[in-house]
Amino acid sequence: MENMLDYNISTLRKLLDRGEITSEELTKGYLERISAVDSRVRAYVTITEKEAVEQARKADKRIRQGESAQLTGIPLGIKDVICTRGIPTTCSSKMLENFRPPFDATVMDRLYQQGAVMLGKLNMDEFAMGSSTENSAFFSTRNPWDLKRIPGGSSGGSAAAVAARTCVASLGSDTGGSIRQPASHCGVVGLKPTYGLVSRYGLVAFASSLDQIGPLSRCVEDAAILLEVVAGHDRRDSTSLPRPVPSFAKACRKGLKGIKVGIPKEYFIDGVQDEVVTEIQKALKVMQEMGAELVDISLPHTEYAIATYYIIATAEASSNLSRYDGVKYGFRAENYSNLMEMYKETRAQGFGPEVKRRIMLGTYCLSAGYYDAFYKKASQVRTLIIEDFKGAFKDCDVIAAPVAPTTAFRIGEKADDPLQMYLSDIFTIPVNLAGIPGMSVPCGFDQKGLPIGLQLMAGHLQEEILFRAAYNVEKGLGLKAQWPQLD
Ligand code: GLN
Repeated sequence: MENMLDYNISTLRKLLDRGEITSEELTKGYLERISAVDSRVRAYVTITEKEAVEQARKADKRIRQGESAQLTGIPLGIKDVICTRGIPTTCSSKMLENFRPPFDATVMDRLYQQGAVMLGKLNMDEFAMGSSTENSAFFSTRNPWDLKRIPGGSSGGSAAAVAARTCVASLGSDTGGSIRQPASHCGVVGLKPTYGLVSRYGLVAFASSLDQIGPLSRCVEDAAILLEVVAGHDRRDSTSLPRPVPSFAKACRKGLKGIKVGIPKEYFIDGVQDEVVTEIQKALKVMQEMGAELVDISLPHTEYAIATYYIIATAEASSNLSRYDGVKYGFRAENYSNLMEMYKETRAQGFGPEVKRRIMLGTYCLSAGYYDAFYKKASQVRTLIIEDFKGAFKDCDVIAAPVAPTTAFRIGEKADDPLQMYLSDIFTIPVNLAGIPGMSVPCGFDQKGLPIGLQLMAGHLQEEILFRAAYNVEKGLGLKAQWPQLD
């Protein structure tokens, strides 16, 4: 057999079901790969070796009985913001360093019902706040394409592990771009689903009206398979949509003929790296050759998206993060003489600087006398952004744009400049504010050999058309599975 680490989910499904490989062999192969390269990439916060091998053996039994499901025996990695019963779920924060949830997130329940294998928990920016994974309280994850560069964030571990082939695919979360931007920087596929498509039960909350869990994978079809499994109504999340889940993998198979692709002028502006624009234009040309029609569109309120997001997201975060008080769970400071001091010391020592910055910003925006000027105003602008997309989707089926203005930057390059860091999310944030799905598909490399992602966006619950467009771009570009050299 060639290198088993090269296979995607659908190939592995066949090999496993035919008995040409066992999940135990595959899982051990991945664990060996983790020991060989993860000390350089640093994607994993926790490696659940023992549990993984046990799960693999169980999966093998199920396969032998002819009862396999799509993900039975497939080794995956999980962002450390998703609760896993009995296994540390740290959010890459000192605050939750020793937290072992007494329950599994709904997405974990669904993966386990299928017999999927979890290799471990993946590094992230603390509480998913950041774009580089440098805000992890533990260590920075490196970009497998250039170890001196960031993998993106906040799901940097989830993207880097897929690119480094230390898992078949992974789950991440996206509040303002945290799946799509690292996927773009690491040359993998990443999807932020429609708000409400995937249950948030057991996803540690950052900004509840924006957070969504989604897949990161090597190819579009793998993302479709993973999403099919984790999506669907869950009564434990009141914002989850009561709707049947279509077959996204089937949607991939339809051609591009007749699809209208909107090109928003606000996403092709000064400051976007030349090679990003060139590679995206190539992808658009390929889509056109495959039968798609390109139309110019406008999303006029794009320039207000970052300001709007940093009010809404920080306001929600300040409320969500008030639960870390040293009483209920997580870290508690040691030296204090009264209750108030215990709260203060716990939060001062437990949170990192970016998390504190957001809590302060959010608390300020919500405080008496400022609410109307900030939070209310931001909510109104959010409506305008939603209307922008609604209008645009009257003229097109999908929107194509860059994911990020540049390829991966160097570790440390923006670490001391929060505003520069925030600005790098300009093209991903509007999708979260509007609650619509967005995807990053690899479309080329810059001259340094760093990956570039094409962002595709679609209307509310229009994942099928998104997959259809993405699958065809992937096929049309014919970028051969290229892997970073880590050996
Ligand atoms: N980079 C953005 C932020 O720092 C988005 C993070 C995310 O999507 N979780 O808030």
